[in-house]
Amino acid sequence: MHYISTRNEHNNFTNNFSKIIMEGLASDGGLYIPKTFPKFSTSEIDNMVNMDYTELCTEIISKYCGSCLTKGDIKKIAMDSYKNFGINDVAPMINIGSDINILELFHGPTLAFKDFALQFLSRVFNIFLEREDKKITIIGATSGDTGSAAIEAFKKNSRANLIILHPKGKVSEFQRRQMTTVNADNIFNIAIDGNFDDCQALVKKLLVDKDFNVKHNLASINSINWGRVLAQVVYYFYSSFKLMKNKEVKVVNFSVPTGNFGDAYAGYVAKKMGLPIEKIIIATNSNDILSNFFQNGIYKISKVVPTLSPSMDIQVASNFERLLYEVLDFDSALVRQYMNELNNVGSFKVSKEKLKTLNKTFLGLCVNDQLTLDRIKTTYNYTNLVIDPHTAVGLEAAYSQKKNLTGPCIVLSTAHPIKFSDAVSRAINTVSELPVKYKSILTLKEKYDSMPNNLNILKKFIASKSNV
Ligand SMILES: *Cc1c(COP(=O)(O)O)cnc(C)c1O
Repeated sequence: MHYISTRNEHNNFTNNFSKIIMEGLASDGGLYIPKTFPKFSTSEIDNMVNMDYTELCTEIISKYCGSCLTKGDIKKIAMDSYKNFGINDVAPMINIGSDINILELFHGPTLAFKDFALQFLSRVFNIFLEREDKKITIIGATSGDTGSAAIEAFKKNSRANLIILHPKGKVSEFQRRQMTTVNADNIFNIAIDGNFDDCQALVKKLLVDKDFNVKHNLASINSINWGRVLAQVVYYFYSSFKLMKNKEVKVVNFSVPTGNFGDAYAGYVAKKMGLPIEKIIIATNSNDILSNFFQNGIYKISKVVPTLSPSMDIQVASNFERLLYEVLDFDSALVRQYMNELNNVGSFKVSKEKLKTLNKTFLGLCVNDQLTLDRIKTTYNYTNLVIDPHTAVGLEAAYSQKKNLTGPCIVLSTAHPIKFSDAVSRAINTVSELPVKYKSILTLKEKYDSMPNNLNILKKFIASKSNV
């Protein structure tokens, strides 16, 4: 399997799986994608329907690893990664009537779906680091959940220092405490004066700074890293198969609460691999750059507004570049041009025909805070289920688009409601019970640094902590 950058498809480097995982972002600033996408035949798909989670994981991920990981390696990593997810099922699914199903992806250690990718990725990193006897500095930006999932996955790892940037005052208290109360020498939390986009821009600047990158052996765990997307492809198959075991179900739909477009893009990858997905609903909160794009073909950055679903308070959706590259017929010069336009004038536009092609798969919908609260309330009243605000965005979008779908719809439930109890308690009078592990989180001592949005200050900090 060979990988190319969205900004330079003609390069002649050997970009194998281990290289692109360790690098994260390509040195030209582009994102890595496979040169060709593997596809399962219908009979292969039929044979996969009854596999358990780790078997599926092995089957799917091995297609992307070349000789870097064997099926045996992948199976071991998967078993180890997901052994403590949930009680009986890694990803339980609940039908709430009218062909709508809620896929609970929050039974991992930090109570958000990001554990699926980060538990997996940290183990892959470790194998590659041990093989090469190397140490790394991992830098990550978080809108709230990536940070804790990464910290949980990498804490006490003697080969990695982890530096996590979060937007100061813009993550929930529970989310912040999940990051800042972990006591491990290799973890550094930094609150940046700015929003998530500022944090992500700092990470990208560090990664393309060649000298600094080489000196500290930088790596990225944001969903710009292909490994993140790849691990998430698995639950699209797993959940679809739960429905397709009923032979009458021929196609499935997904509604995905979206910020950085990583999770939704993973769904698209599953479709490219042969999973019969009809539509992927791109559900955003009022930060609606993506839902607007899928409605009118214009990708236009506006100011980030804080919402009740803070993990999606994002404007520059990094992974969108992977889809754009395909939309622009794999012309990386054009991708560079569009990205420059975005930087210079704040927007670009695709043709009506291209939008029409995209709409065969993607529907965009924006769900504001009021509709989010209403959906949490109605869901609780009718089903007794407490859902978090991100899930509510996805669920509301699913109901409003139902008329455009023929098959059943799976809504990705991306976080445990306890992570956003302030928002949930504004909608209903019930708060979920704190999981045992987190009983003392509100009183534990926090440790983090604060910093202005300034690259040089950040570089000095990282250099002073480096163990490479
Ligand atoms: C990160 C996150 C999302 C958005 O996922 P993307 O891959 O960035 O689109 C949605 N919900 C929750 C709870 C998240 O943590």
